[in-house]
Formats: sequence, structure tokens, C-alpha cells
Amino acid sequence: MKEVRVRYAPSPTGELHIGNARTALFNYFFARHHNGKFIIRIEDTDVARNVKGGVESQLKYLSWLGVDWDEGPDIGGPYGPYFQLQRLDLYNEYANKLIEMGLAYHDYREGSDTPAIRMRVPEGITYTFNDMVRGELKFESSEVEDWILVKDNGIPTYNFAVVIDDHFMKITHVLRGEEHITNTPKQIMVYQAFGWDVPTFGHMTIIVNEEKKKLSKRDVTVMQFLSQYADLGYLPEAMLNFIALLGWSPGGEEEIFLKDNIINLFDESRLSKAPSMFDKNKLSYINSRHIKNMDSESFMELCRPYLERANVKIKNDEWLRDLTDLFHDRVSYGAEIVELYEEFFNKPFKLGEEELTFLKETNSKVLIETFLKEINDIDFTPDAIQELVKKVGKDLSIKGKNLFMPIRIATTAQMHGPSLPHAIYLLEKPTIISRLKHTLSQLEEK
Ligand code: GLU
Repeated sequence: MKEVRVRYAPSPTGELHIGNARTALFNYFFARHHNGKFIIRIEDTDVARNVKGGVESQLKYLSWLGVDWDEGPDIGGPYGPYFQLQRLDLYNEYANKLIEMGLAYHDYREGSDTPAIRMRVPEGITYTFNDMVRGELKFESSEVEDWILVKDNGIPTYNFAVVIDDHFMKITHVLRGEEHITNTPKQIMVYQAFGWDVPTFGHMTIIVNEEKKKLSKRDVTVMQFLSQYADLGYLPEAMLNFIALLGWSPGGEEEIFLKDNIINLFDESRLSKAPSMFDKNKLSYINSRHIKNMDSESFMELCRPYLERANVKIKNDEWLRDLTDLFHDRVSYGAEIVELYEEFFNKPFKLGEEELTFLKETNSKVLIETFLKEINDIDFTPDAIQELVKKVGKDLSIKGKNLFMPIRIATTAQMHGPSLPHAIYLLEKPTIISRLKHTLSQLEEK
């Protein structure tokens, strides 16, 4: 088999978007699965829509996701340049060849001095291609009007430039969004005019939101730019995992994959024919699973900038590590640490009905009094706190839930939460003592 060569061809009209990231990733997985080449080409011919920094943002967030490329605008390669605006002579040369062959013509209709060049669509031809996702697709040439190859300003249209580039860059497979299906017959007619091999096309289905509407860039209910997720402390490996499952699945129940698993498993025959839904809960789940897999040091470093930005006074690395360890299992994206921190340290201490009832029903007053009395005498470390809880339980013959729950309630006002000795340790002695006293006074109120 010929070496697989695929490309991601963004227009630098904005930041890297979920839909584009998916196109890039699927091409990337396909290339790496087949030991082929992955190429980035910048389609910047829609000059009015190009934005400053558009190319950099695309490349930056692809690298962030863990994607690497073999040829591209930043690293060059044997078939460059990789910016369409630097290839204008090539497009004009080939458009003129089509004129010489009688397959295209000058068009002065647009009222300018220089003509546009228009393709003369042949009559009575059926364009058939075998789409990797949808199977055989057919278009009649009578459905296509003569179309512009090169505009009167000398800049080619997308449909023309894409063929010239894909041909000269030796692209073998084109995986792209389904909005390009109807462009495909126009592209095939150019390949055929020159007698070139036509690449294999695959058109991926749309991504829809949770209301099953096509995800549009203006949809404010879904964050759609990779930069937004990066800024909130989503992990690149989780985003790659989530996006890989938008329109592809390896079969089976497993949903957590790393890049190398996906490359191994990637199989174009499992590209979905149905629209893929952007399921926010699933993203959150996948991200939290990858967060759980982080070691404690990396998780601490993920959280640090968010706490710093929220002006949390980080005493030292040990303290920070204790804090982030405490919430490691509950955080679903980095920035969430701030909310958990605030809730834990700064929420006013107030016992709810359910908590008070629990304390009363379990007659926990003596337990809390004893714990309060003895806590003064210990070295205030998580281990010593753990030992003290056990000792008090033993002395009073209280075990299990009836031991831990009252102490949790009397120190955190909650019935559920992170590791109790660590929580008590981080809240620090003065806070703990005042909370225990407060709890006792509430119990005495009747
Ligand atoms: N620049 C086109 C786009 O962003 C590329 C389409 C293609 O892959 O052919 O939609």
C-alpha cells in the first residue's frame, strides 16, 4: 500500500474549535495508525476572514492536545509552502492549463478588468465516490453549475486550491466534516481533468448539542474552544479522549483511553454514521477519571495557579499537597479546586437539621466533649488526629459510623466529605476547637 498521507487544513479564522480539533485528531489518529504522515496546511485564501494569531492558536492547541505533525507551516517539509497564499502561482498555472485544455474559461462577468477563471462543468457525467463513512455517494454533473476556480483578484477558491494542494502534497485520504460532501464532485472533476488519482474521502457526521441541534459556534450553552478548557484546567489527555469519541468508538464499554490506545485501536470502519452528541456530563466524567489517574504532585501543580489567582495564601508546598490530596477525588477540572477550597474553609459553620438530629439520636455529646478535651494535648498531625479518634472511640466503646460521623459533623458541619483526619488537620486547631464548642452549645440548647 502507498504511504498514507493525510492533512488537516484549517482556515486561520479563529481559535481551535472542538469541531476542527476533531477533524485534526481523526486525521492524526488515522495517519499514526497506518504509520503514515500527518500534514498541516493553512487555507488562508479567504483573506477577509483571517484573524491575527489564528495560525498560532491552531498549532498551540493541537500541540497541547498531544498532536505532532510531520510537515506544516511552522516546520516546513518537502511539499511546501504550507500556506495557500504562498502558492498562488501554482494555482494560476494550473487554472491556465485547464483553459488551454478547453475545460475552463475566462469570465469577465464580474465587471472587473481582470477576469475570473471558471470551470466548464462537463455534461452527462456521474461523479461517484466511496465515502469512508457513508459508502457510495453519487452526484450528476447537471447538479453543478460552472464554478469559479480563480477569482478576478488572482486568489483561488477553496474547491480549486484544495485539489491542487492535495495532489501536489500527495494526500491519499481526506477526512473532513460533512459540510464538504457537496464540494466533493467539484473537486473530483478537477482531479479527472488532469488525470490525477482521486484521494479516498471520508465525511464525518455533525456534532450536535444536547438538544440534538447542530453545534454552532454561536451556541453559548457549550464551551467550544480548546483554549477555554485549557484555561479551566481540563487535561489535554482528557480532551483528546473525549473528542476521539465524538463520532468514533472502538466498541465495548470502556470510555477511558490514552492517545496511544486510540492510535492502536483507530479504525475508520468504526466512524459513526449518526450525529455525535456533545455530552457535557461525559466530558466531565472523562476529565475527572484522568484527574484521578494523576499522581499527587501533578495534581497539586494543576491546582496551584487557580488557588494563587484566587489569592489563597499557600503556606508551603506540603500544605498545598495536603490540601489538594484532600480534594483529588472530587475535582472534575482544575479550577474547581477554588470552589471546594472556599466551601471547605470559608463557609460559615452552621449545623443543619439533619446533622443536629443525627448528633442527638446518637447521644454524641459526651463523645464530642471528650474529643474536645483531648485534642488540646495532641500533636496536631493527621496521624495523631486519627489515633485520637480511635482512642476516644475505644475509651467510650463507640465504633464505626457512630464514632466518625459525629466528629465529622462537629468539625465540618457535613455528613460527607474528604478524609476526616486530614480535613481536621487542615482546618487547624483553633477553628476545630471553636467548632466543637459551638456544636456542644447547640446540643445544649435543647
Ligand atoms: N479549509 C477547509 C475547512 O476548514 C478544509 C476542508 C477540507 O479538509 O477539504 O473546512
